[in-house]
Amino acid sequence: MLVKYVIDFSKGSKEQKDLLGGKGANLAEMTKLKLPVPTGFTITTEACLDYLEKKDEISAELDTEIRQHIESMERRTKKRFGATSDPLLVSVRSGSKFSMPGMMDTILNLGLNDETVIGLIQKTDDARFAYDCYRRLLQMFGDVVCGIDKNRFEEQLDFYKSKKKYCSDIEMQAEDWQELVAVYKDIFLEVTHRPFPQDPYEQLTLAVEAVFHSWNNRRAITYRRLHDIPDSLGTAVNIQEMVFGNFGTASGTGVAFTRNPATGEKGIFGEFLLNAQGEDVVAGIRTPQPISELKLLLPQVYQEFLTLSSLLESHYRDMQDIEFTIENGKLYLLQTRDGKRTAKSAFKVCIQLVEEGIISKKEAIQRINPTMVTQLLHPVFEPDHLKNAQVFATGLPASPGAANGNIYFTAERAKKASEQGEKVILIRQETSPEDIEGMVVSEAIVTSRGGMTSHAAVVARGMGVCCVAGCEEIYVDEFLEQATAGNVTLHQGETISVDGTTGTIYRGSIPYVEGDEWQLLETITDWAKEEASIGVKANAETPADIKTALKLGAQGIGLARTEHMFFGEERIVEMRKMILAQHEEALMIPLNKLKEFQKEDFRTMFTLLKGKPCTIRLLDPPLHEFLPQTEEEITHLAKETQRTPAEIKYRIEELHEQNPMLGHRGCRLAVTTPQIYEMQVAAIIESAIEVAQKDTANTNVPEIMIPLIGSQEEMQWLRERLVQSIQKVFDNTGQEIPYKIGTMLEIPRACLTAEKIAEVADFFSFGTNDLTQLTYGFSRDDSGKFIGAYQDKKLLKEDPFQHIDEEGVGTLMKIAVDQIRNFDPSIKIGVCGEVGGDPQSIRFLKKIGVDYISCSPYRIPAAILTIAQEG
Ligand code: PEP
Ligand code: MG
Repeated sequence: MLVKYVIDFSKGSKEQKDLLGGKGANLAEMTKLKLPVPTGFTITTEACLDYLEKKDEISAELDTEIRQHIESMERRTKKRFGATSDPLLVSVRSGSKFSMPGMMDTILNLGLNDETVIGLIQKTDDARFAYDCYRRLLQMFGDVVCGIDKNRFEEQLDFYKSKKKYCSDIEMQAEDWQELVAVYKDIFLEVTHRPFPQDPYEQLTLAVEAVFHSWNNRRAITYRRLHDIPDSLGTAVNIQEMVFGNFGTASGTGVAFTRNPATGEKGIFGEFLLNAQGEDVVAGIRTPQPISELKLLLPQVYQEFLTLSSLLESHYRDMQDIEFTIENGKLYLLQTRDGKRTAKSAFKVCIQLVEEGIISKKEAIQRINPTMVTQLLHPVFEPDHLKNAQVFATGLPASPGAANGNIYFTAERAKKASEQGEKVILIRQETSPEDIEGMVVSEAIVTSRGGMTSHAAVVARGMGVCCVAGCEEIYVDEFLEQATAGNVTLHQGETISVDGTTGTIYRGSIPYVEGDEWQLLETITDWAKEEASIGVKANAETPADIKTALKLGAQGIGLARTEHMFFGEERIVEMRKMILAQHEEALMIPLNKLKEFQKEDFRTMFTLLKGKPCTIRLLDPPLHEFLPQTEEEITHLAKETQRTPAEIKYRIEELHEQNPMLGHRGCRLAVTTPQIYEMQVAAIIESAIEVAQKDTANTNVPEIMIPLIGSQEEMQWLRERLVQSIQKVFDNTGQEIPYKIGTMLEIPRACLTAEKIAEVADFFSFGTNDLTQLTYGFSRDDSGKFIGAYQDKKLLKEDPFQHIDEEGVGTLMKIAVDQIRNFDPSIKIGVCGEVGGDPQSIRFLKKIGVDYISCSPYRIPAAILTIAQEG
């Protein structure tokens, strides 16, 4: 097949972005729509690739095609390229499939030389204009084709103006520009050792080659790497008849969006400059006027622009970013493309377009990138302030958002400072459940240890508080109350700013803007829910988190970690008493107190959920996590339990484990001390009965989940005990309610024997945090120390605690899903580890056939959107 290297605007269409690049395809489309687009043609990406392949040689075919198309333009415009009267002048612009900063910029007025400039003067009767055009060509051509530093030209212009005592370019006369043209030509000669090419075809060929080359310049290559754009695309080149915005006060140039790209507000939003050419608007040399002022200056042009922009928006069915030029009162369109926009604008525009009947709800959902949800819900730093901010350290982006405040190193101090009205940020080596009171008053949480599934990360995400975890470069000295990174040491009370979305910590206070567009989010989430084929539940247990989760679209609770309910001053004391108990009787006293606390929480939970599903996980962490750490706490506990501090310390020693994450935790605790789980299930069932008695609409089917099961035997033994306890509740209350007993899949052995466990489990939920830890053998709390090195050395593409490891953990999950479905296809399988809230992982989880995912409340909308997009 004959490869076409050049295509006229009238022959292409918007679908041909691969061949014509974005700009070329849209110019062709606008030409097809008979819009006022200056005539022109596109040299295709194929031509670019061929040129690069042939080691930088313009083929004879390409050269011939270019000449034929220029001749065709000459016939249409009745102007001649290189003619000494009324010459045809063109612009040359690059345009790849994706807009790519770093590629060659525009060259305007190409075709001007010492003779054609005279022709332009004769035609326009305006020498000032003609020489201004010529000097611009010299400057742009010199810069983008020959790499002459722009400042060389600018310096001469400034020097000339100051010599003449001019304040601005407007004062430059025809002779002034003419003189400057001579100066610019000298610069060209001096730098390139050759005169500025006078032959217009030579100018054109060099410009086209420069565009081709710019595909492989360093900036362009880096941009492609960053954005996963293949090198094999190549760029197109657009050659278009010049129209002049610098042709007096009825001329101008501008850029406008059909809706506000920051807020999404409907209506033209943009700027223009009268008597100016192309780059003047962008370059910031003169301050452009808001587009609304065009209405007063050139009312007819303004009206026409309104009509055309709305036509373009309806045609493209999206907000457009349009470049235009007015030449002597006539409007021309030079470019249109889908406008880049903020998250808020993206949501708003989508909703408006659906309301206006331009796109369907389904399309609206597809158009929103799930990462935009984060920007909509969480604060972000003001970009202008971020530019000069001083980075203190970086870590894992554990919970998105932006915050600033004064640093404190213990929960207690953070709480006190906050009570005195300070905005505080808690910095710790790592947090433990005991820090909760300091965490809830903090604007942000920073830890020097721990990964994406560490306590700080999980809790912060749950609360929607910004968090940077695992900042290994910070040395946190909680005793001296200071944090050191590199040669900077920050002391208690000093101010920092934390960006949980990027994982960066800055010194000082950086202003941020709130993300509070719940209404917009709600609308899109509601539409997405209609398309979502698997469920989204929340990991939540506190009333505040549950309310947030429901507001953000959760279908229920997929994981309530009951251990989170045992912290708080009163409760932890009872918990500690329970742990210290050495005989059944002593155990039951604190257990009964804890039961009342649990019941209080479960009642609230069931009431808030109004019958929506609720999976409650029984106690999971090793007991020592609840034990006192400081001398002060030990003394206090000793008093409360009428023991000596030495006895308490002895018990703490006894409970110490070499490897607690693999030790006495989860269901293993229940095997040694079943009373804990028995108390918990009784509390769950009694609460559910009580709530249902008050209001039958609130009848819940509690799903009781046992953590860390590794074998059928374990599950069966525990299940029997729990069923007995539940039966006791039924007997005592005279009421029965349905319930389910299931387990987590977080031990590789459980995945490999899931079919057997399914015989005694009513449902399953993958705990990918522990499953990843145990599959990789990477400690979820310490992997931050080496994951970075693995990534640097390309041994790992990404942190498996952030994005599911499809190859390893994923294979185990597939085995488990297949085995369970084989036993009983109707058994519900969920995922409640942190990857359940990660869009990339969700795509995989959906594929292997889970029924729902459960994640932190603030990740719910993005999760629903991702699932809806996957169909
Ligand atoms: C898990 O292991 O994935 C899980 C959800 O449980 P936790 O994070 O509480 O161990
Ligand atoms: Mg777990």
